[in-house]
Amino acid sequence: MKSFEHIRIPEEGEKIQQRGSQLIVPHQPIIPFVEGDGTGRDIWRAAQRVFDAAVAQAYQGKRKVAWMEVYAGEKAYTQWGTWLPEETVEAFAEFLVGIKGPLTTPIGGGFRSLNVALRKALDLYVCLRPVRYFPGVPSTVKHPEYVDMVVFRENTEDIYTGIEFEQGTQDNQRFGQLLKEHFPDEYAKIRFPETSGYGVKPVSKEGTTRLVRAAIQYALENKRRNVTLVHKGNIMKYTEGAFRNWGYELAEAEFGKQVYTWAQWQRTLEREGEEKANAEQEAALKAGRLLIKDVIADIVFQQTITRAMEFDVLATTNLNGDYLSDAIAALVGGIGIAPGGNINYESGHAIFEATHGTAPKYADKDKVNPGSVILSGEMMFRYMGWHEAADLIVNGMEKAIATRNVTYDFHRLMENAVLLKCSEFGEAIVRNMS
Ligand code: NAP
Repeated sequence: MKSFEHIRIPEEGEKIQQRGSQLIVPHQPIIPFVEGDGTGRDIWRAAQRVFDAAVAQAYQGKRKVAWMEVYAGEKAYTQWGTWLPEETVEAFAEFLVGIKGPLTTPIGGGFRSLNVALRKALDLYVCLRPVRYFPGVPSTVKHPEYVDMVVFRENTEDIYTGIEFEQGTQDNQRFGQLLKEHFPDEYAKIRFPETSGYGVKPVSKEGTTRLVRAAIQYALENKRRNVTLVHKGNIMKYTEGAFRNWGYELAEAEFGKQVYTWAQWQRTLEREGEEKANAEQEAALKAGRLLIKDVIADIVFQQTITRAMEFDVLATTNLNGDYLSDAIAALVGGIGIAPGGNINYESGHAIFEATHGTAPKYADKDKVNPGSVILSGEMMFRYMGWHEAADLIVNGMEKAIATRNVTYDFHRLMENAVLLKCSEFGEAIVRNMS
């Protein structure tokens, strides 16, 4: 097994491996974790206790996680002067599946974001964000129970690629000049060319198809009703619009009779009229096919609030997905309990993570909600096929919230609730597992 300078590999435990499209998980897998900065320390402590209790209860000692701490963020910087040590990336690469708390984004450092750097290094092209309602969670909508959505956000393309040219720099001038010389018509469209910053938005066919494929596979395996392609293709035709078109093409080419697409509906409409198209769709859905539809990115923010029941799995580009997953999470408790995973389904690499930041004002106060990282662990166990442990975590969390034992973020919005510390909420989950 590989050795590291600072990372201590647990003596007992084995590597998770990927064979073909199959994840091979030993009974005692070594799982790298980054505790995280700020409140990361509080939530990780509470979460690890919950994870170990769930695994112990589910498998009665036959399975156990061999946790391996790896370093990033402030903890790495203060000890070794680097925000993201090379060996941390190597450890996530070597051991395949890991989990992390939130990390400070270094200001003025060489990194735009440590999270983005990790996703890039391992080509974790899916950002998976399931959003569901836990009964009792304070919500601003009338029917939060209708919210049960899973967002597949593309994680490696779009304007997140970081190709930007700052106004006033030489590179900016060269980029402007390139446009002027080679694309004079486009250059003429820029309102204030001398004082513009520029950003480039690449969206590829490969990037789109692997994301949409993963979303459709997930929907089929989990018996979901529909996949919605979310895009702003009415304006950005060759990036967002192409995402929609490639998504439909992929669905029909690779999933044939398992799906029915709105592109098919449109073709039948043009050939044979609306009645025939509607009848065709109805018959396909009755036969149990998965509906693949699309929606423009602006209206999806309204419809996921006003018609939540119509949405199931959503597949979208990077920036849309960033906004959308937080907005949907806000319907059912917000970022304190919204989990996430970054996955490459071909290589098996996956890093699950709390979706909120480090909330530094609450650091080391044992106060914040550990739900986000706990549910990220629940996703990780499901990804590993440890469904029994995952079910216990959900079960414990459901009961803790239903009995109104909650942290400050929920407590301030609930009546007659019991205020718990971060660690106490973890304990409440453990007590309620059954
Ligand atoms: P933040 O840390 O997410 O905190 C914003 C607010 O969200 C907090 O003040 C708190 O709201 C609420 N909150 C966050 N975590 C919570 C939890 N576990 N339980 C309950 N409420 C929670 O965002 P930020 O202050 O903008 O960012 C701080 C640092 O985190 C920055 O360096 C940023 O770059 C980084 N960041 C990291 C990640 C990541 O690692 N994935 C993600 C986002 C940001 P109230 O004040 O209302 O109580």
